[in-house]
Amino acid sequence: MLDFIARDCLGRVATFVWKEGHCLRTPAILFVSTSRIRPSEYAHAILTDTKIDGKVDEKERRDRFVIIDEGSIFSRGEIEIEKDTYYIPRDIHLPLSLQSLHQSALEFIDKSSERIVSLGGKIVYPVNGVGENAGIIARNGLEKFSPEVFALCNGKELLGHVRDFASTIAAFRNALPSNKLLYLPGVALPHNLALFVYLGFDLFDSTAVAFGARKGLFFTNYGAFDSKKMNEIPCFCQACSIARDDEKYRFSYEHLLRHGYNEMISEISNIRNAISNGKIRELVEIRIHAEPWMVSLLRNFDLRHYELQEEFYPISRHANEQLIASSKESLFRPDIVRFKRRIIERYKKPECAKILLLLPCSAKKPYSFSKSHRAFREAIESSGNPNVVHEVILTSPLGLVPRELELFYPAQQYDIPVTGDWDEIEISRIKEMLKWYLSTQEYEEIVVHIPELCKVVENIVYEVEKEKGKELRMHITAKEHATSEDSLERLRDTLEKISSGMEKIGKRRIVEDLRSFARYQFGGASDYLFEGEIDVKGRYPDLKIFRGKVQLGMLTGERGMISLTLDGGKALAKGRSYWVEIEDFKIKGNVFAIGVKDASREIRVGDEVVAGHSGEVRAVGVACMTARDMIELNRGEAIRVRHKI
Ligand SMILES: [Zn+2]
Repeated sequence: MLDFIARDCLGRVATFVWKEGHCLRTPAILFVSTSRIRPSEYAHAILTDTKIDGKVDEKERRDRFVIIDEGSIFSRGEIEIEKDTYYIPRDIHLPLSLQSLHQSALEFIDKSSERIVSLGGKIVYPVNGVGENAGIIARNGLEKFSPEVFALCNGKELLGHVRDFASTIAAFRNALPSNKLLYLPGVALPHNLALFVYLGFDLFDSTAVAFGARKGLFFTNYGAFDSKKMNEIPCFCQACSIARDDEKYRFSYEHLLRHGYNEMISEISNIRNAISNGKIRELVEIRIHAEPWMVSLLRNFDLRHYELQEEFYPISRHANEQLIASSKESLFRPDIVRFKRRIIERYKKPECAKILLLLPCSAKKPYSFSKSHRAFREAIESSGNPNVVHEVILTSPLGLVPRELELFYPAQQYDIPVTGDWDEIEISRIKEMLKWYLSTQEYEEIVVHIPELCKVVENIVYEVEKEKGKELRMHITAKEHATSEDSLERLRDTLEKISSGMEKIGKRRIVEDLRSFARYQFGGASDYLFEGEIDVKGRYPDLKIFRGKVQLGMLTGERGMISLTLDGGKALAKGRSYWVEIEDFKIKGNVFAIGVKDASREIRVGDEVVAGHSGEVRAVGVACMTARDMIELNRGEAIRVRHKI
């Protein structure tokens, strides 16, 4: 039985109850215990083939989760099976080139598994496949044995084939529901643990550390180093403290092994903290620079397995949970890519806006609270017809952010290193988004108030003009500094001149802004939320949405999303999006996964959802799980309910 304590992307902290009254906190390390290798004294989990009088040493086993390998990792023959003990069944190792023979291998694994299960043992199902085959084998194990733990046994072999490794991990993870523990044998080291946890694994072992210690390697969480070249011991763990005073022990196998163990345990704590704080991606982006294959593996995952990752990325985070995008990899973070993709899929500008004003971003978020953006706002407000002006911020790594979406995650959370220069990838993303924007959204005039991107914008405007066969009227208002008195005056004057002949727009604009926000959050179903005469009250960023006297929802700055009332839920439900179909029961507190029958596929952690039965709305609240987990899992909170009938 697995209970989640915290989840972040595919990584999770959980408690695994392996025997009544006994649980293991994951991610965790299985410490190898054989006649030749002793485990860490801090071990909570053991991987062994050791048998004393036909049984694993009782002292060693006490209160520890034990997995006994029957021959998938160490070479061994059939062993005596004890009740309620976990075993990795015997398996045939196929080289990568012989993957097509997996059918006979499957039969062999199934036979070994059946033997263990029939004798009362529990199995850790071994998967030895590449790419889709890994998924097929995992599904086979799931259907036949429904084990709690699965092991991807050929990880070590796949280290040299990064693209295959990525597709294997993706297929393996995709084939299994979230409540299975995933074990990656043989490859974990302190510096790569974070990456593998991020990719969805929960269990690791100490074999690679033991091999490394034999070779004289000193492990840290940023890489493994040749201990012969070390003049100082950069660690104060127990083993290193002894080594400091004992020259014979210093950098001996025993010292390197003990230190490596401690480093693994300490990194597991770093990882658990990062997951609890929503920072696992940031930790991974720091760690992967230890070895090139780690960077390649993450890039492969980002480029080729976006969907799997995106599904588990929360859609919103609290306003003060910063997203640090400081490496090249950050540009391909699934939540950043999703922001961009969703603009293309869902975005429509406020209809009554006639002038597009392109602005630079600000370090302070949300942008409109920054000094520079307050100055831009002042210029707009004093230009005479402010509500026809639509501000769009050009920025890296999001590409562009229309003003009314500035609160939506990660627009108000991201932080990037600012150098004043833009690199090629950043520029190309802005170009791509701006080109899409100008080709699809209609304006009468374009005002460019970004000195450093003037040339880029001009070129894109020229390209779009050629494609559309229509002239776009463009005005450049900032030459050197966007916030200089000169520039701001030019901005105000230009806006005044071009907007004076346009129809005056009043309160309709704020309604359209919220409508645009709602479309971004809920997709097409938001049209039902904005049917009829809609009114908006409150002070930005906290705005209430009314139809007549009935409140439908509220945009809040801290959440950066629209929260619904029951009436709002009823309106949205007509669109059948963000809908969770529950069993026929009266909701008392929150909704748990066991009560969920079905859920709209677009639901992500943090989404505003409507729960109901057979078309009848029963509650509105925040999704605590992605749609797939709501459907597949039988434990855990699915919706934190805000209002219920
Ligand atoms: Zn140490």
